[in-house]
Amino acid sequence: MNNDTISVHSPVDGAIVGTVAVASRTDVEHAASRARAAQHAWSKVALQERCAIMHRVKNGLLEQADEICEQLNAEQGKPRLEALLHEVMNLSGLIDYFASNAERILSPQPIPLHLFKHRASYIHWQPRGLIGIIGPWNFPMMICNGPAAVALLAGNGVIIKPSEYTPLIQDLARDIFIRGGVPEDLIQVVHGRGETGEAVVDNVDMIEFTGSVATGRKIAARCGERLIPCVAELGGKAPALVLDDANLDRTAAALAWGAYANCGQVCASVERALVHRSVLPALLDKLLPRVRALHTGPSVHADQLQMGPLNNQRQLDHVQRMVDDAVQKGAKVLLGGAPVEGPGLFYQPTVLLDVTREMDVMNQEVFGPVLPIMVLDDESSMIAEANRLDLGLLAYVFCSKPNRAQRIAEQIEAGTVMINDVLATHGMPETPWGGVKSSSLGHTHGDESMRHMCQQRHVNYARIEVLNNDPLWYPYTPTRFRWIKRLLSFAFASGIRTRLKWLFRS
Ligand code: NAD
Repeated sequence: MNNDTISVHSPVDGAIVGTVAVASRTDVEHAASRARAAQHAWSKVALQERCAIMHRVKNGLLEQADEICEQLNAEQGKPRLEALLHEVMNLSGLIDYFASNAERILSPQPIPLHLFKHRASYIHWQPRGLIGIIGPWNFPMMICNGPAAVALLAGNGVIIKPSEYTPLIQDLARDIFIRGGVPEDLIQVVHGRGETGEAVVDNVDMIEFTGSVATGRKIAARCGERLIPCVAELGGKAPALVLDDANLDRTAAALAWGAYANCGQVCASVERALVHRSVLPALLDKLLPRVRALHTGPSVHADQLQMGPLNNQRQLDHVQRMVDDAVQKGAKVLLGGAPVEGPGLFYQPTVLLDVTREMDVMNQEVFGPVLPIMVLDDESSMIAEANRLDLGLLAYVFCSKPNRAQRIAEQIEAGTVMINDVLATHGMPETPWGGVKSSSLGHTHGDESMRHMCQQRHVNYARIEVLNNDPLWYPYTPTRFRWIKRLLSFAFASGIRTRLKWLFRS
């Protein structure tokens, strides 16, 4: 172990809440080889037993919910109820789903063969080995440990590198896994910054990364060199389309939660409200009082806190730069626009109007409590604006006619579109989580994500073995050529008449 350490500062008041030692490349190599050794035995443990262990891990999470929420509040900054909803509830729900369904998901899958009817095929799933998980600081419990649980259920070992801003919760999470029955060496945690992450990529069989687009590109390139699979969940810039027939009471409440939950530090946050001109005044009448009611700041008692601070100074500076750029280019600040005075990294919930496509706030991820509102005149320009960017993680449609809403949703270039709701699908582990364009490479969640943590192995066998020499093998003769050509035409030609004609041609 080297002498490099990271001190973790609470965004709530700046106090140091803990220190972790940075893992060197050699530390990562040792952690990886311990996990690999443990994984050999783990892959032989019956799947039913692995599921039982993971149900115990879930129970441990629920038992330690208070401690988890306190820890997340201290190092990440989120209010305790948010920690309970977004981290404890979503993670225990995910574990419950996958531990209850792993036997079905990983059961061998027969493949009906299209041409070779005399043979049969099936796929069986074997663990890849060691999965590296590299996570961000906005949902440190859920995002690192959801994939960890799925990987372990599938028979893999894991090595987790949490964000350098929120490392402490991962040590608590590891203890909960171990107390539930996961072998100690099988789940490794290494702390550090980008270099530690690079060492993880170099020592595993697959990467599950969540973080920025810029880091995602670097990691995917490194995985490409090593020819290992990489799932990358990256940035978003979710638009919320508010149509002329939207239920404005529900829309206003949804926008307030969707833009400011976790202080806007959600990849799925509502980052752009695209509002039909005819409903703007009525929407603002309902939205602004809700945003004003989001009590935040160091003087607000923890029980009354509706919105926590930004997580780190770098993020606060970024948010302020985006707001300043918009204001300088002509945006009107309806609410907020500055940090809250006093200790901690609190920022006022901010609403911007008169935003344009020239402003950074309409092009780049803000990842903070800022809701820019763009006014548009019709459905097609709202869809075009939603699709304008190279990011496509989540999108939202507010519209009271179900058929119209679905028609619009299907035209939006996003991994998931929610109708009259926001954010929530991360808590639905059976649905795929992943975006289009530069927002993602692959998916987490959904049954396929568990199979993707396995090698897909294919077995092919004869239904009946009658011939010692297959007609497709040697010898090559003119007679065989003629017959195979006829049979090929018979098998593939469209229409029974054409087939019969071709069967009997010379
Ligand atoms: P980040 O890219 O700065 O860091 C993420 C992790 O990568 C950290 O653990 C960091 O130490 C590590 N890292 C940095 N450089 C590395 C390298 N070269 N090799 C290996 N690891 C490296 O992201 P962040 O600021 O922690 O997180 C915020 C971003 O995450 C936002 O863009 C947000 O949209 C995104 N995010 C996406 C999802 C999703 O599901 N799509 C979920 C949450 C957050």
